[in-house]
Amino acid sequence: MESCRVMSVTKKDVVVIGGGPAGYVAAIRLGQLGKKVLLIEEDRIGGVCLNWGCIPSKALIYFASLFDKMKKSESMGLTVTGASADLNKFQTWKNDVVRRLTTGVATLCKGVGVEIILGKARFKSAHEIERVGFDDIIEAETTVIATGAKSILLPNFPLESPSVVTSKEALDLTSVPKDLLVIGGGVIGLELGMAFQKLGSRLTVVEMTDRLLPGTDPDLVRVVERSLKKRETQIFLNSKAVSYKKNEVVLETPEGNKMLTPDTVLVSVGFVPNVKELGLDLASVKQDAKGFILIDKQAKTSVDSIYAIGDVTGPPFLAHKGFKEGEIAAEVIAGQSRSLDYQAMPAAIFTDPEIATVGLTEAKAKEEGHDVTIGRYPLGASGRALTMGQSDGMMKMVIDKESHQILGAHIVAPEASELIGEVTLAIEMGALAEDVAGTIHPHPTLSEGIMEGFKQTIGEAIHIPNLPRL
Ligand SMILES: Cc1cc2nc3c(=O)[nH]c(=O)nc-3n(C[C@H](O)[C@H](O)[C@H](O)COP(=O)(O)OP(=O)(O)OC[C@H]3O[C@@H](n4cnc5c(N)ncnc54)[C@H](O)[C@@H]3O)c2cc1C
Repeated sequence: MESCRVMSVTKKDVVVIGGGPAGYVAAIRLGQLGKKVLLIEEDRIGGVCLNWGCIPSKALIYFASLFDKMKKSESMGLTVTGASADLNKFQTWKNDVVRRLTTGVATLCKGVGVEIILGKARFKSAHEIERVGFDDIIEAETTVIATGAKSILLPNFPLESPSVVTSKEALDLTSVPKDLLVIGGGVIGLELGMAFQKLGSRLTVVEMTDRLLPGTDPDLVRVVERSLKKRETQIFLNSKAVSYKKNEVVLETPEGNKMLTPDTVLVSVGFVPNVKELGLDLASVKQDAKGFILIDKQAKTSVDSIYAIGDVTGPPFLAHKGFKEGEIAAEVIAGQSRSLDYQAMPAAIFTDPEIATVGLTEAKAKEEGHDVTIGRYPLGASGRALTMGQSDGMMKMVIDKESHQILGAHIVAPEASELIGEVTLAIEMGALAEDVAGTIHPHPTLSEGIMEGFKQTIGEAIHIPNLPRL
């Protein structure tokens, strides 16, 4: 006979499920606003971003770029002999960076009274949450779901680290693959692929669509494609990796089937939401066809007392989208009048060169009925880019032709991820091209390109030719 379990019941104002960027930000903001908050995390505080995503990948990319620059600076007169990249040592350094950040997040949570407990949470009903394997029930007035998303696996490519990996395992590799096949020419595949390439891997990328980085302005993608080709990357577009057996991979390409023999395969083909066993049906929370949780402008789900934020609500999969949604959800829960607005949502791709975008692309602006003027600043005109030996790139500005309102900016350049902040602020403030064009920028910097690009949209460029007005 089953023994009678005594369940302890705790009451909380708000329960946050998931301690990634979306969840921990919501918890901290709720704590600041005086709510009694319980954060339940199944694995590690910091979620994918701090433990297996943004931070470890950028550590690897920085490490690889430094190594690459040392080897490639001979034409400037810098000769480095005996340089070697030790991935084992790198792991220790990277893990320390991750530990410092995750400890910091836990300290910030505690500082505002957020209680953190470990466990896999699931709904028993809209106001009751249990932890799998624990004898407790938490009664929550409000719940915030921030359980994130995980890599899609391909049935014919079962995980078998170190031979078949997703980004999570790839970031823990202790030796550099000799022959790396990346399945999926999207952001993560190219970021990690290029990093390993700089460390010595031969890189092959297979992408199902007709272009790399689908969804990114093709003018920018062309520059990254050029950089990949210079590094002798094999790229298969309109192609599909179909089978894997003992390091033999079969690709279906427009030219027929090809057989490759990589020692490492990185599967990077998208994300599915972490909703399995969450009991969403018991709480009556509605999802879209792919399982992502549907939310409104206040981050509220189909159930009044339940909010959802971050990757579990669908693309774009960006930590700062989760940060913002976390803040908005917390403030709405605390009774403030706030709503989500993605108009000034930047995105950065840490390829070489980096890509960063914000606002509308030229195509999207036209689709939305804008008559647009485009400014184009080639990086070859930048004194700063030339002094860095990295002048292949461009900045593309999109403004409304009549009002001169800034609609978007699209940059492919070193440090693009840092540069995009300026235009993000401009869009957030509803700035006109004249506002950025008339702002004094320090010289010599890459940011001057942003000023010149906007100057060009209004026919006032100084360091690049102005375009004939149509
Ligand atoms: C390799 C890689 C590189 C990336 N680089 C960048 C980048 O440079 N910039 C950027 O903006 N974004 C980047 N991202 C995306 C970014 O990591 C995600 O957008 C971000 O982590 C999403 O935050 P989140 O809080 O929604 O979810 P997550 O970070 O996934 O956190 C969800 C948390 O919920 C926990 N959880 C799940 N189910 C339960 C449950 N039932 N009970 C309790 N806890 C649960 C999980 O353990 C996890 O800790 C990258 C992603 C990857 C994979």
